Amino acid sequence: MANAEPVFRTGIGTDRHRLAAGRDLMLGGVRIPSDVGAVGHSDADALLHAITDACLGAAGLGDIGEHFPDTDPAYAGADSAVLLAEALSLVRREGWRLGNLDCTVHLERPKLAAHKRAIRERIADICGIPVGCVNVKAKTGETLGPVGRREAVDTVAVALLLQVSPPSGARDTSEDV
Ligand code: MG
Repeated sequence: MANAEPVFRTGIGTDRHRLAAGRDLMLGGVRIPSDVGAVGHSDADALLHAITDACLGAAGLGDIGEHFPDTDPAYAGADSAVLLAEALSLVRREGWRLGNLDCTVHLERPKLAAHKRAIRERIADICGIPVGCVNVKAKTGETLGPVGRREAVDTVAVALLLQVSPPSGARDTSEDV
């Protein structure tokens, strides 16, 4: 019997951005009212960056830095939602569709409870999946470490990809350019 092709794959993504006054705090494509925001080359959306890495990772497509280098002026102030959408089109080209996302944001303050629904809806919209397939959890740092001292926001995302066609490595690529 021939080896069965995989029908799903998982990927994990993590990110950390420094927090500082005078910056916006973008999480999951939503601007969160806050006295400190995330520092970065793009819009510094640590949650969308973790999700992007999880999706790229599940498809075996490397990481966000390979596709959208932070040394490239083209990505200065970039909308991370656009980067995620571009990453997902690469994922789809490899024959996968996104099944679900589970995410955790580690942030001391502000509390995210009032924003979680909006974040889930925005992520679902960017990714083109039902909001029920996007979960967002929020944790504090218990006043400990970079998160607890409000020096950083940390994020983790896990993505499940479902196969819709054989991966490129398993198909005839003679017509690929
Ligand atoms: Mg980042």
